[in-house]
Amino acid sequence: MDNWEKAGRIAAEALDYGSELIKINAGVKDVIEKTEKKIFDLNGKPAFPVQISINDMAAHFTINEDDFLFKENDVVKLDVGAHVEGHIGDNALTVDLGDNKELIKASKLALQEAIKIVRPGTKLWEIGEVIENAITNNDLGIKPIRNLSGHGINVYEEHSGFTIPNFNNKDNTELEEGQVIAIEPFATNGTGLVKDGKLSGIYKVVNLKNIRDNNSREILKFIMDNYNVLPFCKRWLLKNFPGFKVSFALRMLEKENIVHHYPQLPEQGKGLVSQHEHTLLVKDHVKILTKAD
Ligand code: MN
Ligand code: MN
Repeated sequence: MDNWEKAGRIAAEALDYGSELIKINAGVKDVIEKTEKKIFDLNGKPAFPVQISINDMAAHFTINEDDFLFKENDVVKLDVGAHVEGHIGDNALTVDLGDNKELIKASKLALQEAIKIVRPGTKLWEIGEVIENAITNNDLGIKPIRNLSGHGINVYEEHSGFTIPNFNNKDNTELEEGQVIAIEPFATNGTGLVKDGKLSGIYKVVNLKNIRDNNSREILKFIMDNYNVLPFCKRWLLKNFPGFKVSFALRMLEKENIVHHYPQLPEQGKGLVSQHEHTLLVKDHVKILTKAD
């Protein structure tokens, strides 16, 4: 098994494990931390902080300091990435703690249908069209989120080169043999767009350069040693350094444009959002890398 396959399997097993923990009155932070620990137990590392985005929150949500519980009717997206020496498996699913079957079915079906047409030569717009058709095939006004998309994946690069649209965006780029890609349809009963929300506490190094402040330099070294240029979160640093040091260093690193701070991504119309995602290897018979077995 190569590192892509290993990472995919670890991500899938951790996703499966984490999804079983999502129950009414369970703690969100507890589920996130147990899922991250599972990745380590399987001999991988998180490719990004485990994300749990609930209801109209579409993506980029993790717990840093303030915790809360799952409650009845929550639509819970669990997004898990694992890496093995930078080779990344990225996958997600939605757990329904209420009665939102059609919404959840829409993104799940869209992913299944999209996977069927993945092969060398498939145009990106074709994947988008299949996703859009699968998601809008209902009387409930459910639609894809147009400004969230799948992506290519490279070693230590969670989003590489191209994006895989969730609607027909007319992109004629063709998939190529051997590419690793993530397809991730998002379905919503809202407007079909996300906006930038509050800051998430999720960061990544975007511009590695020297920084004069000793404390910030120490934390930057820790970040590079442990997470390289993959996304990390404040919660992880708080396990290793006192809070005031972490807060100060992150502010400095942000101000110097050494790290990017991701905003949370809520749905613009406060619609409920579901998501499903797999990482795939493009070839004549597509291989789903994020598969537990
Ligand atoms: Mn993901
Ligand atoms: Mn992804």
